[in-house]
Amino acid sequence: AAKAYGKGCFQVFESHMHEQLLDKLDSEARLRDAVHRGELRLHVQPVVALPGRRVGGVEALVRWQDPERGLQQPGSFIPLAEETGLIAEIDRWVLFEACQAVKRWQDLAPEASPAWVSVNLSAVELEIPDLTDRVAYALATTGLSPHCLVLELTETVLMRDLAVTAARLEELRELGVKIAIDDFGTGYSSLGYLRDIPVDVLKVDRSFITGLVGNQRQQELVSAVLQLGHTLGLKVVVEGIETEDQLQLLTRMGCRYAQGYHLGRPEPVATLIERLAAGSWV
Ligand code: C2E
Ligand code: MG
Ligand code: MG
Ligand code: MG
Repeated sequence: AAKAYGKGCFQVFESHMHEQLLDKLDSEARLRDAVHRGELRLHVQPVVALPGRRVGGVEALVRWQDPERGLQQPGSFIPLAEETGLIAEIDRWVLFEACQAVKRWQDLAPEASPAWVSVNLSAVELEIPDLTDRVAYALATTGLSPHCLVLELTETVLMRDLAVTAARLEELRELGVKIAIDDFGTGYSSLGYLRDIPVDVLKVDRSFITGLVGNQRQQELVSAVLQLGHTLGLKVVVEGIETEDQLQLLTRMGCRYAQGYHLGRPEPVATLIERLAAGSWV
């Protein structure tokens, strides 16, 4: 009986695995065509300068308008894209679209447009030999000024091979673009790379902001990171601000750049432009 039961289990498991595999192959096939079919969408989330609460910059965040499943968030397709190598094409699309959108915005409204746009790069990206050429090409074809572009990398990327990474990032910075460490504080945090790697921006991960109000220890930790960044001459952006209390507290703590649902969710460029024009701002 035990044997039969075991066998039944195995069959259930197997057909479940089979379904998952088919589902994955199906998604992969559709994702492969998504770029050509024009199914990717560029969303931007404002990064707000404090204490005045003006838009300083925007972060480009990709979405996929999957004809079968509707609008997909990056968490549901970026891992698959990384696994299959499709990420290179997606990131190239996002880079171009983001540069183009912000350049047009700056041309239309020089005073009211963001001063920079930041674009996320996957870990594998730093290993692409022509990354610097690609970035230079996106800047040249869109006309966006290099100092208006920030490339966001996570700590995990930076820890791979410090020497290679530093050389690659130096190349990028020679173009005039800026480098941000995304999700700062969540990786294999080492102060070594702040010494060895050329960075311009720290983005403090939102896990440090959840529960910030009322937690003295966490406040001291965030204060210390703000101070460290500012002492090193870096821009520090705090991510994940969801409440007015958090925003006020961070402002008092000397935070100069903030990002989060409370200040604006990721949305199409046109929607953000309209919202800014309508003055519906925090
Ligand atoms: P990330 O770069 O750390 O982006 C911030 C994520 O936090 C975004 O999720 C954003 O919507 C979310 N977020 C912003 N404010 C808040 C808040 O107040 N509360 C909460 N709970 N969440 C907030 P999203 O758009 O789902 O992107 C997730 C991740 O996917 C990004 O994390 C980034 O690592 C990656 N990603 C997004 N777009 C791209 C892309 O074009 N290329 C690559 N390689 N990765 C991307
Ligand atoms: Mg990011
Ligand atoms: Mg982030
Ligand atoms: Mg994050």
